[in-house]
Amino acid sequence: MIEIIKADITTLAVDAIVNAANRSLLGGGGVDGAIHRAAGPLLLQFCKTLDGCRTGEAKISPGFKLPARRVIHTVGPVWRGGDHYEAKLLRASYINSFELALENGVRSIAFPSISAGVYGYPKQAAARIALSVMRDYEDRFERIIACCFSAEAADLYRQLLDAGR
Ligand code: ADP
Repeated sequence: MIEIIKADITTLAVDAIVNAANRSLLGGGGVDGAIHRAAGPLLLQFCKTLDGCRTGEAKISPGFKLPARRVIHTVGPVWRGGDHYEAKLLRASYINSFELALENGVRSIAFPSISAGVYGYPKQAAARIALSVMRDYEDRFERIIACCFSAEAADLYRQLLDAGR
């Protein structure tokens, strides 16, 4: 089932939360910074052993002090006008996160809106891609949560989800 909620993703007690990270995996701003702050310094220590992550790919770590058991770190594309494979790469971020989740027995997973913050991906287009991949994986998870940080983002996701059914 796909659930749309407005929340701080660091508060969710699920099998895995997804981090919209950067290629270094060594922390950053936005949701990445919030996840590192809430997980504590052992997360950074662990991430240093992961050797970074390419755009569209995903890596997994424990959740450390988070209520979530795992963190799946993925790197979405920076929006550069739309002609630089951004849609393909954003899709790949969701798909590779879901595949890594399945390999690790994850049954409940929460996603932020990858690339829709500092990376500048247009919010509606990003949400459409998120929901389209979520629908493809819906049957293989108990819970798929689209975790929106604002009421506006949650409204947008709800409209798109309702329209797609
Ligand atoms: P990116 O660099 O991939 O664009 P950002 O962290 O800048 O990543 O933003 C991705 C999305 O995560 C944005 O929609 C932003 O509002 C949201 N966000 C920021 N902090 C949190 C949080 N604590 N929980 C959930 N979503 C968050």
